[in-house]
Amino acid sequence: MSSAKPAIPTPLTDLKIQYTKIFINNEWHDSVSGKKFPVINPATEEIICEVEEGDKADVDKAVKAARQAFQIGSPWRTMDASERGRLLYKLADLIERDRLLLATMEVINAGKVFSSTYLMEMELSINGLRYFAGWADKIQGRTIPIDGDFFTYTRREPIGVCGQIIAWNFPLILLVWKIGSALSCGNTVILKPAEQTPLTALHVASLIIEAGFPPGVVNIVPGYGPTAGAAISSHMDIDKVAFTGSTEVGKIIKEAAGKSNLKRVTLELGGKSPCIVFADADLDTAVESAHVGLFFHQGQCCVAASRLFVEETIYDEFVQRSVERAKKYVLGNPLTPGVNHGPQIDKEQHNKILDLIESGKKQGAKLELGGGPWGKKGYFIQPTVFSNVTDEMRIAKEEIFGPVQQIMKFKSLDEVIKRANNTTYGLAAGVFTKDLDKAVMVSSALQAGTVWVNCYGGGGMQCPFGGYKMSGNGRELGEEGFHEYTEIKTVTMKISQKNS
Ligand code: NAP
Ligand code: MG
Repeated sequence: MSSAKPAIPTPLTDLKIQYTKIFINNEWHDSVSGKKFPVINPATEEIICEVEEGDKADVDKAVKAARQAFQIGSPWRTMDASERGRLLYKLADLIERDRLLLATMEVINAGKVFSSTYLMEMELSINGLRYFAGWADKIQGRTIPIDGDFFTYTRREPIGVCGQIIAWNFPLILLVWKIGSALSCGNTVILKPAEQTPLTALHVASLIIEAGFPPGVVNIVPGYGPTAGAAISSHMDIDKVAFTGSTEVGKIIKEAAGKSNLKRVTLELGGKSPCIVFADADLDTAVESAHVGLFFHQGQCCVAASRLFVEETIYDEFVQRSVERAKKYVLGNPLTPGVNHGPQIDKEQHNKILDLIESGKKQGAKLELGGGPWGKKGYFIQPTVFSNVTDEMRIAKEEIFGPVQQIMKFKSLDEVIKRANNTTYGLAAGVFTKDLDKAVMVSSALQAGTVWVNCYGGGGMQCPFGGYKMSGNGRELGEEGFHEYTEIKTVTMKISQKNS
């Protein structure tokens, strides 16, 4: 049962950006280089503010603070696990208190639709932190009956100083899920938000102080990937790096970790997720779920249902209904009431998506709807639907990360499983059918970290999340996610057997 949703207020009209500096040791710092970078509103192309630009020198300062906070005997290391949980609950309460401010900030900075940000994204952030808070004193080892006169147990210990590098598509959710998992296990953190979206991360940094976390436990260094990000992944005194973003950068990060100190690496990368609709599916549900699974947040989701396979006998009707559904958007500045489709994140993504749309037209896909930019200002793209898409087209192979739906046709079950798995990615998949046997068989056969049956995109922090193949390494969230933030230590004690 889901709980009652709060009413949706109007976004703040007088939002002031208070925090624009680098956050280290619970203090605000200017960048060592003296540089700043502009933060842009993607709906208007206007500069919202300038933020201090961290690079290697600032990452070094943050690592020193995080290392200090992780020393044996420090307030953080001696804190009861339940108290760590209490601090995380407090942080969740403060985010809830500032919900309207944070949702408005996310809309202005990331071009998000206000209603879903205020409801769904804020809820996932707040509830996510509460979930991680609850784990803090439940991370346990085991006792193991080894041979001989020994008593053996395992401890799950924090890894140490964790670097976290995140993407711009869900700035607040990614931030709190990343720091929540790390802190719950007792690690310390240096996080680099995406260059496009540092604002909610810096507001949350102010709440870290207010919640009462000791200095150095959380450090936020805004800046660019090749400088600040690379300084994190190649740092000799960072024990783990966790990353969300493109497969291309994921490879660079893993290489940097290998070339430096072999720090632990977890990667949440891109996808080209198949969604399979069999002829016996409930058509209304399938059309709507596949649609939202692709168009949510203007297609900028790693799990986007961007390869839609529809069984031949229902193909034409499915395409026609999908086109009708995609016509329903109101495009514009997402602060405007009624708007439900905002801009893409930046000019670069905008151009990349338009280039892929052009490739679809040239390679012979049928453009059913959209297919171009929208408006005079802002990085908008018309909701776009292609039919008659074939597997070798670029739009069927490359991650588009935009509002572009590819609908493909299939004839048989074996054929569609082969085609669905014929990709270097393996993040998510969907199956729509009323036949339970088919649903179970196909979900087992699909090479994907998450499979949805008769729905697409649900889930939350309770479930392990991650990718097969080039969609990632390791899992985040759920119990498995915590394991990625701990080292296991085996302790074996010799027992005297005098009395037995
Ligand atoms: P990205 O380049 O992978 O960026 C993700 C994060 O990594 C950002 O914080 C970025 O910094 C940082 N980074 C970039 N180069 C780095 C390096 N050499 N070393 C360490 N960190 C580095 O993704 P993007 O530029 O935002 O978008 C490009 C593509 O990534 C999209 O088209 C999409 O396909 C994919 N993407 C996937 C997800 C996902 O959830 N799986 C999310 C967003 C994007 P900057 O802030 O300087 O970029
Ligand atoms: Mg980038």
